[in-house]
Amino acid sequence: MQDTSFPSYRGQMEYVCLNCGARRSGESLLYTCDACGGVFLLENTDFQQLKATSGQEWRDIFDRRATTAKTALRGIFRYYELLAPVFDEEDIVFLGEGLTPIIEASPSLAAKIGLPFAYKNDGQNPSASFKDRGMACAFSFLKWLCRRNNWDEVLTVCASTGDTSAAAALYASYVGAPLKSVVLLPHGKVTPQQLSQPLGSGAVVLELPGVFDDCMKVVEILAEQYRVALLNSKNSWRILGQESYALEVAQWYGWDVSDQCLFVPVGNAGNITAIMAGFLKMYDLGIIKRLPRVFGVQSEHADPVWRYYSAPKGNRHWAPVTVRPSVAQAAMIGNPVSFPRVQKLAERFIELGGERAFQVVRVTEQQIMDAMILANRNGHISCTQGGECLAGLQNALKIGLIGGNEHAVLDATAHSLKFSGFQQMYFENSFPPAYDVVADASLANEPVLLLPPNAREGKDIQTFAKMGADAVASKLGLLKKK
Ligand SMILES: *Cc1c(COP(=O)(O)O)cnc(C)c1O
Ligand SMILES: [Zn+2]
Repeated sequence: MQDTSFPSYRGQMEYVCLNCGARRSGESLLYTCDACGGVFLLENTDFQQLKATSGQEWRDIFDRRATTAKTALRGIFRYYELLAPVFDEEDIVFLGEGLTPIIEASPSLAAKIGLPFAYKNDGQNPSASFKDRGMACAFSFLKWLCRRNNWDEVLTVCASTGDTSAAAALYASYVGAPLKSVVLLPHGKVTPQQLSQPLGSGAVVLELPGVFDDCMKVVEILAEQYRVALLNSKNSWRILGQESYALEVAQWYGWDVSDQCLFVPVGNAGNITAIMAGFLKMYDLGIIKRLPRVFGVQSEHADPVWRYYSAPKGNRHWAPVTVRPSVAQAAMIGNPVSFPRVQKLAERFIELGGERAFQVVRVTEQQIMDAMILANRNGHISCTQGGECLAGLQNALKIGLIGGNEHAVLDATAHSLKFSGFQQMYFENSFPPAYDVVADASLANEPVLLLPPNAREGKDIQTFAKMGADAVASKLGLLKKK
């Protein structure tokens, strides 16, 4: 049976500071705590009310919505009550985000790795990364706020390693007035494909020398001192939208994730925060009976979260790191703003799921590239961060963190096409030394020009086609039909 009604339930969203516990109304644009500077998470203070509905009933509701034709419920807001249940139907922006496919590893790839696993292709979102999940929620919130306050112009700003700006610019240009998008990028540190996206959406694109962490600082000052809407993951509404990833994984596996191990690349740490938060909500409501295991993955070249968790408990110290060039460029962040969120949620995850429920593994740049190339040669569409996840799975297997009857779900956070430049460098073995990547020449691939560039000139199509066919047949050693 189709469920076509928009939910009538409305909650109350409040910002909760993870550092000092201060609470602020969700009806405002806030990013950091005015009392202490800490980061927020949004909490639905009427969450308890949702417990009047049983886990089974929730599962049935979400399963029924799977077939809805109602636009507002077709994407991440299939899970409306669990995300941001304050918007009205007219506020919700849907551009086709969410419900990305989970694709089981090809038989050849699974055999090579030695454990069954799947990729969740979040690159199949509208701007080709998972960031769309968060933006759909952040922009629905902005529409809701503008409507309630009669605001006639809101300038949205974000710093970005590429994909946040692509998503922000896309949603802003779709919604249109009163929203306008400005993005701030580290010059030369996003791929040409990523840069083309906000340009194509008509956003104002500003660049600064430096890396992402530098741009983030600039944007923080802007958000503190000027009237702008910040769209980085300090914006807690984005985290809510990104929780949909966890809900989709659970629903796909029939609401039983007890044998699942999720691998998530960690940059600013918003994604892993959201994924843990989503599972914890489902657990609280009895929608899932057991938590899955969550593995954060970081590169040696940007590994502050790994460094923290690799120290023994009781002797852990948080320290940002200076990043080195990384092929997992979207996660090349040395001072993740969501680290306090990870800390808080990981603690809860371990409390409920045991020590093995949350872990962080580290990989080399070489492993990331080798893994991405391998995955894509076996029919996948993984970006470098998806390669990072596969490398993380390989290392987790090697050191015995995972095995037996377990199954892994790797987050391919963006589409491979956004990062084709790294593939090219691999095929040409032309990585600058700072990346620490040497290509495996046996995996190189390049186009083969069969005839001289001027071979087409002055020939009729029949003559040319015959030459072309002869050249193909000779190159491939084709046998003539009898
Ligand atoms: C943003 C991004 C990441 C890192 O996610 P965080 O939430 O910053 O940890 C990883 N991969 C891709 C493709 C991204 O765009
Ligand atoms: Zn505070």
